[in-house]
Amino acid sequence: MTDQFTRRTFLGAGAGAAAAFIAPSWLRFDARDATPDLVVHGAKVFTMEKPLPVAEAFAVKHGRFVAVGKSADVRALAGPRTRVVDARGMTIVPGFIDTHVHPDGTTLLYEVLVGNPFEVEFVTIDSIIEKLRARAQKTPPGTWVEGFFFDDTKLKDKRALHRKDLDRVSTEHPVAVHHRGGHTAFYNSKALALANVTKATVPPRGGTFDRDAEGELSGRVTDAAMDVVERVGKRPTFTAAQTAQRERDGLAHISKQFVRYGLTSVHHEGGDLAALQDVRARGDLRHRVSYEPTERQFGMADVLSGMVASGMQTGFGDEWIRIGATSEHLVDGSFSERTMALSVPYPNRQPPYKGNIIPTQEQLDAWVLTMHRAGIQVNCHANGDVGIDMYLTALERAQRAEPRTNTRPKITHCTLVTPELVRRIKALGAVPAMFSTYAYYNSDKFPFYGEDLMKRAMAYRWMLDAGVPATGGSDFSPGPFAVLMGIQGMVTRTGWDGKTWGANQRITVDEALRVTTLNGAYASHEETIKGSIAEGKLADFVMLAEDPHTVAPEKIKDIKIVRTVVGGTTTYEA
Ligand SMILES: [Zn+2]
Repeated sequence: MTDQFTRRTFLGAGAGAAAAFIAPSWLRFDARDATPDLVVHGAKVFTMEKPLPVAEAFAVKHGRFVAVGKSADVRALAGPRTRVVDARGMTIVPGFIDTHVHPDGTTLLYEVLVGNPFEVEFVTIDSIIEKLRARAQKTPPGTWVEGFFFDDTKLKDKRALHRKDLDRVSTEHPVAVHHRGGHTAFYNSKALALANVTKATVPPRGGTFDRDAEGELSGRVTDAAMDVVERVGKRPTFTAAQTAQRERDGLAHISKQFVRYGLTSVHHEGGDLAALQDVRARGDLRHRVSYEPTERQFGMADVLSGMVASGMQTGFGDEWIRIGATSEHLVDGSFSERTMALSVPYPNRQPPYKGNIIPTQEQLDAWVLTMHRAGIQVNCHANGDVGIDMYLTALERAQRAEPRTNTRPKITHCTLVTPELVRRIKALGAVPAMFSTYAYYNSDKFPFYGEDLMKRAMAYRWMLDAGVPATGGSDFSPGPFAVLMGIQGMVTRTGWDGKTWGANQRITVDEALRVTTLNGAYASHEETIKGSIAEGKLADFVMLAEDPHTVAPEKIKDIKIVRTVVGGTTTYEA
């Protein structure tokens, strides 16, 4: 059998061996205009397709791949108007897909960033105070002064941030430092006083007001208790036009950041749908969006109820903006901030603590059944083994109440599992969106859990071995969305600090590429149009300066993204 194919076979006249190269039907009927817009040859193309795992070249027409194969064959398809690119041996992979992102570009653009959103970087408490003081000077008393992208384990000071540090910013303004994980925040005395929180205050269900060694309020507040503080004080107000402008600019900004890291598709946790469409119409959307509608939670707009009421289901939209699963409905707390619900107490923690659970089982069952019935792909945030068990129970009950096929319920994070939970995940056909960059970025959090629990955390090996199509979700802002950092962590399980955790869950480079491409497409029911380099699929790909299969594993994250291409159009060039 030969790999050679001619222009004739490309146009559909061939048969047999050339079947893999046959162009889509619309192209076959228009032979006059059959020459590709783009030919890339001389590359090492990892297609993620079974019959043709590695190719040298491909051709693109009208934003889709129309041929994949050997350089000489594909180059021969080029016409006078075809752009021909010699990749000079560079590696090409399908565009990366991140299945869990909070696409908050306005924070990146307009707010005080007290940590580095994109990379591992240590800061001092003094630097945080200084940045917030500068903001306080421009802010009327009584109005919030807030810092974002704080990471409690990326402090040079080697001690915890404290309420009293933030009192040095201001005693006239409520001050908050938000953990990038979103489940904890640190407040100054003024903020807690405005909320009437004292050390005697009983926290709401699913939250805590933490105390320091002296028994005084430390300023750290977790999960549901944050709402108590967040509802006091004044916040800057904007006109409708200003808000629209900020949302647009924020989305355009974060889109530029995504493609810098090779992302061509991102699952958005909500966000302003009108702004998203506006950004697209202006030509500023550089990546494809699986839009996950929010519900009334943390003051977010209730897009989801509107969908249920109107009958709009998952899959509505087009190749650029499509309705995906629901946004993450919270079941339990956070992995990185150590509030997820565990079946065993957190190691070395007094008083004994097993994490935060948000809904009751009955509430969760009812919510899951409502979405399941409405034909909307269900998606819950479930981190600890207790949270995951509750979610799977709700899914199993919904399936019993109303069996549906191919629902692919999404489990956002799905961090700490057992073999039995993995078996139930497989049986339900559920798709986990597991932390991608944490193994590298957050290795400084793993001592809080210990090696025994880390052997069951971010269990990519177990998932793939069980045939579960695990995907990678950075959860930005909690995790950076650098996909190559994520692949390195999945392959090595070694963090920035050189420590290795749960090495039993390592996967290969090929598997990690599949997790971050084709499996991501499967998660949004789009595996027939993206996720691999194959004829007929959207021409989304990334050119890498080096091959992640052959560089030293601890250097994968440093591989340069040379070019990101979405639908045949370059959206980023180094
Ligand atoms: Zn999230």
